[in-house]
Amino acid sequence: MKKLYILGGTGTIGHQTIEVIKNHSNHFKVIGLSLGRSKKAQHGEIIQTLKPEIVCLREKDFKLESKFPQIKFVYQDEGLVELVKYPKVGIVVNGISGSAGLIPTIEAIKSGKDIALANKETLVMAGEIVGQLVEKHAVKLYPIDSEHNAILSALRGETLKEVKSITITASGGSLRDLSREELKNVTVEEALNHPNWKMGKKITIDSATMINKGLEVIEAHHLFNLAYENIHTVIHPESIVHGFVTFVDNSVKAVLAKPNMKMPILYALSYPKHLASGIENLDLTNLALTFEPIDYQRYPLLKYSYQAGKKGGLYPVVLNAANEAAVKLFLNKKITFLQIEEIVIEELENFKTNVSKPTLNQIITLDKNIQRKVLKKYEFST
Ligand code: MG
Repeated sequence: MKKLYILGGTGTIGHQTIEVIKNHSNHFKVIGLSLGRSKKAQHGEIIQTLKPEIVCLREKDFKLESKFPQIKFVYQDEGLVELVKYPKVGIVVNGISGSAGLIPTIEAIKSGKDIALANKETLVMAGEIVGQLVEKHAVKLYPIDSEHNAILSALRGETLKEVKSITITASGGSLRDLSREELKNVTVEEALNHPNWKMGKKITIDSATMINKGLEVIEAHHLFNLAYENIHTVIHPESIVHGFVTFVDNSVKAVLAKPNMKMPILYALSYPKHLASGIENLDLTNLALTFEPIDYQRYPLLKYSYQAGKKGGLYPVVLNAANEAAVKLFLNKKITFLQIEEIVIEELENFKTNVSKPTLNQIITLDKNIQRKVLKKYEFST
């Protein structure tokens, strides 16, 4: 029985994690759970089903506290830290969206817990620090992101020395059939309509601009300790192949599955075992797979992501923070779709104070400052 802590229980990843666990209640027991502001009406039911020992909420809830007197309730960001420090070993599933996911990951590692990571900002912002902490505290870090999860699976039983490169696939996002010209008038609703994956809003917009793939390249660099030159990306509209590993003998291993996050979530939790995921079977007699190179003119943020990753230090923090704020502005209809790119590129080009080995404090301060600056420029307050 593995003990689990789920962060972001009402988000897309959290919700699917709970579904996965319900089907494998003999393998997993939820000890800790954090629930966000959304779907409040369901909080009681989720808690009733999972019966965790500690629950973190955004706002004080006397009704839930009196309904579940045996559960310890904690609140807000401090509560989240308390939750991941709860004195029982286990795996923390981090399904929090955005830079808010960084500190809980770090505190969970420090308290000796393994991490199943869906929050890509953790590694984009502080990949080196997180990597060092993982080593120091001898914990495991399992990626939930489908591409990295596929690479994890393909690398099982292999040694990194024999790996020449990896390739992660991109669907092309919700706007892949539109030209640059047509992107000018894209609405929030159109951008949120992803053809293959059901995901949260932030990551769906990130897929449309392709910065999602850029963030994943940086994530892969830290997870698999590969140089950026050896991390490739390719458009694969069907989203059936999630990742490829090319070995030094030029043989290639790929992992295929129907696009459904339940599979990578379960594999991150059951690794190295494969358990029945309940996702649809892949009919091999009816497969048409296509791949095309990603055009940097069409998707400039992928190019800038590689550059930011290669420059290292605080550049990935700038990339991520500018994008997070810009996506917030776009979702609130303060800017157009193409302005997301403009904002990210402008912040990267204006950034002149890089340090090669930033501290966690420098990272968090810069993230806050850039987000605040971008939001303020468009007179948006959260
Ligand atoms: Mg992904």
